[in-house]
Amino acid sequence: MDKLVQRFLRYVTFDTQSNPDNAQCPSSEGQMTFAQYLKQELIDLGLSDVSLDHNGYLMARLPSNIDYPVPAVGFIAHMDTAPDASGKNVKPQIVEDYQGGDIALGKGDEVLSPIQYPELHKLHGHNLITADGTTLLGADNKAGIAEILTAVAHLIANPDIAHGDICIGFTPDEEIGRGANLFDVEKFGAEWAYTIDGGPVGELEYENFNATTADVICHGVNVHPGTAKDKMVNSMNIAAKFQLMMPEDETPEATDGYQGFYHLKSARMSVARSELSYIIRDFERDGLAQRKAFMQQKVDELNSALNRGKVELKLTDSYFNMKEMVEPFPHIIDLAKQAMEACDIEPIIKPIRGGTDGARLSFMGLPCPNIFTGGYNFHGIHEFITIEGMEQAVNVIVTLSNRIALQYK
Ligand SMILES: [Zn+2]
Repeated sequence: MDKLVQRFLRYVTFDTQSNPDNAQCPSSEGQMTFAQYLKQELIDLGLSDVSLDHNGYLMARLPSNIDYPVPAVGFIAHMDTAPDASGKNVKPQIVEDYQGGDIALGKGDEVLSPIQYPELHKLHGHNLITADGTTLLGADNKAGIAEILTAVAHLIANPDIAHGDICIGFTPDEEIGRGANLFDVEKFGAEWAYTIDGGPVGELEYENFNATTADVICHGVNVHPGTAKDKMVNSMNIAAKFQLMMPEDETPEATDGYQGFYHLKSARMSVARSELSYIIRDFERDGLAQRKAFMQQKVDELNSALNRGKVELKLTDSYFNMKEMVEPFPHIIDLAKQAMEACDIEPIIKPIRGGTDGARLSFMGLPCPNIFTGGYNFHGIHEFITIEGMEQAVNVIVTLSNRIALQYK
């Protein structure tokens, strides 16, 4: 377990921030540098079929140590960090035996405070790792990588723990929504997998939003304002009317749990043309279809009310709820639950109000729920993780690998 923290502290020194403005994969050089470092670590651990492709997808396999057939199971984590905060020169600091109160980050200009983050109250006595207030920490998802490799190293060192083939996959560009794009499911070779990319201890997720982007394009007519009478049509007025037709109580700020929403994310406006960019989210496919139909209906209503000018709607599906791909195989969730319970962890099953690479992979034929890393406040300078939580994630990976082997005996 000492190696776990060592690994993590080493990994966070790599700057692997992904870049949404670069269409290449990986979208930043630092990810490839990190992938090469990890590749050597996989080889040094003695894993089989270690491969790093030119897009930065790193895969390896720990062969089964039993003499009966067991489904191959994968563990996946991503190498990049979020574009939302810098991941350069990360200086992790360990807070031993946290006793409550504010934690000074770095020189203390920034603090991590239980007033802002009440979950700190539950972590008295734990050992925390934070950044120094100028960068994110990168526990999302370098903790997942450190946990998977520590679990694998533990299985290698303890050959009496039965396990089947374990497939390991480290992916680039998850934070910019592309992590599954070039993932070779067939080469990976697992029947199902788990991303180790969740938050606090116990998290187990296999439901996410169905997601569509909706662009509302309003066409007007631009004329010199001095001679515009009865000629100009200001598309911004049409756009404003449209937004006011959307339900006020079905927005991100007015919903939670299993409720869906419409969200006006951004707008580009001028007299001649205004574009409103919405995202639509719903946990049910029917619900998503109804929301799309609702927007189309409002567009039609507005068009018939307009004397001049025109509105158009463009809908593009982004991702779907992985639940429909995971639920036909209830053992995938049951085994994860059992493994957590065997480690004295109460599974916390809740829907993800977003998407994951696991959702995309599930629709590519690799059912892929998400398991906790032990981290908090991902994507910002207040990100932190507990060493205890990381150790529990390692225990869950080891126990789960073993349970699967015993299940098929
Ligand atoms: Zn992540």
